[in-house]
Amino acid sequence: MEHLAMTHDKHRIETRTVHTGNHIDPTTGAVVPPIVMSTTFAREADGTFPSGYVYTRSKNPNRIALEESLAMLEDGVRAMAFASGQAATNAVFQMLKQGDHVIVPDQAYFGTPALMRDVFAHYGLTFSRVDMSNLDAVRAAVTTQTKVIWSETPSNPLLTITDLAAVSQIAHATGAIHVVDNTWASPMMQRPLTQGADVVMHSTTKYISGHTDVLGGALIFARNDEITERAHVIHTLAGAVPSPFDCWLLMRGIRTIALRVRQQAHSAQRVAEFLADHPAVEQVNYPGLDSHPGHAIAARQMVGGFGGMLSFHVKGGATEAFAAAARMQLFTRATSLGGIESLIEHRASIEGPTSTTPQNLLRVSIGIEHVDDLIDDLRQALNA
Ligand SMILES: *Cc1c(COP(=O)(O)O)cnc(C)c1O
Repeated sequence: MEHLAMTHDKHRIETRTVHTGNHIDPTTGAVVPPIVMSTTFAREADGTFPSGYVYTRSKNPNRIALEESLAMLEDGVRAMAFASGQAATNAVFQMLKQGDHVIVPDQAYFGTPALMRDVFAHYGLTFSRVDMSNLDAVRAAVTTQTKVIWSETPSNPLLTITDLAAVSQIAHATGAIHVVDNTWASPMMQRPLTQGADVVMHSTTKYISGHTDVLGGALIFARNDEITERAHVIHTLAGAVPSPFDCWLLMRGIRTIALRVRQQAHSAQRVAEFLADHPAVEQVNYPGLDSHPGHAIAARQMVGGFGGMLSFHVKGGATEAFAAAARMQLFTRATSLGGIESLIEHRASIEGPTSTTPQNLLRVSIGIEHVDDLIDDLRQALNA
């Protein structure tokens, strides 16, 4: 894999986000890399491929550049970019075989356990859902067949914190791998591979894109081993790869991720503190608050800050939560997260009838608007 910068160079991450994978185009001198839409690449008369490129499903210059940048962001040795976050999660489960067991958090992006339940259970994979903040419960759920322990921290939608180093140890003691969905924290806040995790998964749709205009996913690996090779086969053979244009958009997102996420985390802390003092709010879930049960662990492992996501419980029930969301003027009522615009969502209703999310919970993704404008909007919506 000559294309990956194995020696993540001496520069700091803010510098690397600007430069890694962004090479001056040798034919035109273009400072921003061109988008290579060609699906096929010419061969020499002797049948060789002088550029190293053959066919875009297996390798494309824009995807290679993105993968180089993603590996750098997560301190990994190799990354694979997928067409969506779910395609990346799917590839992890596709590495398993009949009878294998997966531990999935009881609180996670709803699509993760749904994939296990609605797709992989039919192929003979088994799974348990566990409170990942309770290490004894994780240990108790391990069986001789456990191959993957999946964690997501901070979790969706209650921002529960999982101790990444401790869960990595539990996984390794039983011969399983620890896969971490790092979508919510983003690599600017937390790098699970440095805490012992084996694979990081991202919905790049969120903070890595940052602009709510591209769908994507990624897996980033701590080592080049048989797991990485297996994932590579699934990646290029099953072919859930992103388009060159999507890769290019994601590269553009990465160039500003350091500035964006730092601002979002700073504003989220201010918003969380405002909400915690508001009489119409019953509870605020944000790991940056001292009162959060996972605060100490988060402070240790979220080296860049506590992130731009939070949720809160409006006093009352679904009616009061819907009414508050309806009065928001700056926050858009929409699902998804990690973009430059602030979003608010009544999570239980999007998750549907099987949801266990409290009916009075609103989930917030903080954008890069001025934080005082965001607080003013929340104040008018909650004071009404
Ligand atoms: C959005 C999301 C996913 C799924 O990613 P898609 O890009 O929508 O397929 C997975 N995990 C988390 C935490 C997410 O927020």
